[in-house]
Amino acid sequence: MEVRTRFAPSPTGYMHLGNLRTALYTYLYARRTGGKFILRIEDTDQKREVKDAVSVIYNSLKIAGLSHDEGPDVGGPCGPYVQSERKDTYLPYAKQLVESGHAYYCFCTKERLEEARAEAEKKGETFKYDKHCLHLSKEEVQAKLDAGEPYVIRQNIPTEGKAGFDDVIYGHVEVDCDTLDDNVLIKADGLPTYNFANVIDDHLMGITHVMRGNEYLSSAPKYNLLYEALGWTPPTYVHLTPVMVEGTSKNKKTGEYLMETDENGNPVLDENGNPVKAIVKRKMSKSQGDPSFEDLLSEGYLSEAIVNYLVLLGWSPRGEREFYSLKELEEVFDLEGLSKSPSFFSGEKMRWFNAEYIRKLSPEQYLTHATPWLEKVLDPAKFDFKRLGELLQNRTEVFSQLPDMVRFLAEIPEFSNDLYVNKKQKSTLESAKAALTALKPVLEGIGDWSEESIHDTVMAAIPATGMKNGQVLWPMRIAISGQMSTPGGAFEIAYLLGKDETMKRLDAALARL
Ligand code: GLU
Repeated sequence: MEVRTRFAPSPTGYMHLGNLRTALYTYLYARRTGGKFILRIEDTDQKREVKDAVSVIYNSLKIAGLSHDEGPDVGGPCGPYVQSERKDTYLPYAKQLVESGHAYYCFCTKERLEEARAEAEKKGETFKYDKHCLHLSKEEVQAKLDAGEPYVIRQNIPTEGKAGFDDVIYGHVEVDCDTLDDNVLIKADGLPTYNFANVIDDHLMGITHVMRGNEYLSSAPKYNLLYEALGWTPPTYVHLTPVMVEGTSKNKKTGEYLMETDENGNPVLDENGNPVKAIVKRKMSKSQGDPSFEDLLSEGYLSEAIVNYLVLLGWSPRGEREFYSLKELEEVFDLEGLSKSPSFFSGEKMRWFNAEYIRKLSPEQYLTHATPWLEKVLDPAKFDFKRLGELLQNRTEVFSQLPDMVRFLAEIPEFSNDLYVNKKQKSTLESAKAALTALKPVLEGIGDWSEESIHDTVMAAIPATGMKNGQVLWPMRIAISGQMSTPGGAFEIAYLLGKDETMKRLDAALARL
């Protein structure tokens, strides 16, 4: 049987890294097995609809390299692939379930439900619909429908027995039916809930493997009851463990941070006497300030690095290898490697992966990525970006670092003369002054301002000064860059700055010594 997997995002306006990981696994499994990868947009929650949110989904998948075989934009035999365009698909199935007694019309008003909910809360119980409308006769239902009364259709969960299913990660999952609520299948606006639409669509689209977040684990028994009631074979379920982080935690309603407390419940204070935010293990979440896929891309992470890191969060290849291209993953991905425990996203590890990927870029590729970042602070007409790129590539962890790394070329930062003092280079204020004084005519005399001739001329002049290399080159670097750490050394910086600017900076430095 051909494997058919689907990625079924709801348009939220951004691509959560956990969702992208789900998409990746779903895609990879289809590719590995020679099956089909389907994109379905789940937009039945119209309140949540975010403008342009669907294009974020397409873009993210495209950037990550996950091409779908069927979907809203590419079509396919099971379309439409947008749930809101399938509106009329669901009601007939809901009616079929009403006929067979697995579902029923519910006309309860909001007020009644709210009251019941409040009542349950007062008693400290979780609210469960009380099957109030289950007992309406066929005629009563018809009369209400004819009168145009608003209704929903609810799943009729058995009051006893168990409901369960088999999951690739979690094994056999089973719950007592009396713990399950009679979920709404068709809402008052005529649209299906996720709980209903996912079952109907997965079946109609011939999905063989459902891979999704484990937040759906507790609802899956209900879905299985629906499959049974409709006489359909359920798909293979793969509920993925969540992507977690260790980070601060904000109350969604009040926006207040959870604070660290000691064993007596008193706030823990830092050295300045300020209360300390608690660091907790929690699910990764955009609303808590964790980055989305788009956030990482705009901070200058490479999509290949993100994909590689994400795939390993929750899946282990056989062996120790860590670096995989998407193409290679398509060959080796398997369900057996999926983790049974939650995985933790680490910003540090992500950065490390990115740095490794950046190092592997060709100089041309590097420059293509780096140029927009360099242009934020440097005029490309004035600086040799190609040379700069060579100097920067091995030092770049994320591209967003670049403006800060090269800003000194555009404008020398204010710096203290203390920077000239360097034990290792045997540089003191006095030796620095002597070195820069000796350097000035040497640099002035260079006609061809190439890196090579700057190097050769300065190196040839050093012996006559009676100083060591470091005693000349260290102050030269400080004088023209204003900082201790630079991409490249004194020669490279002098070359990049050009003769005029180098001399200007040298004069200014001498005047201050
Ligand atoms: N639309 C659901 C979500 O974005 C997808 C769940 C599923 O894959 O079934 O969370």
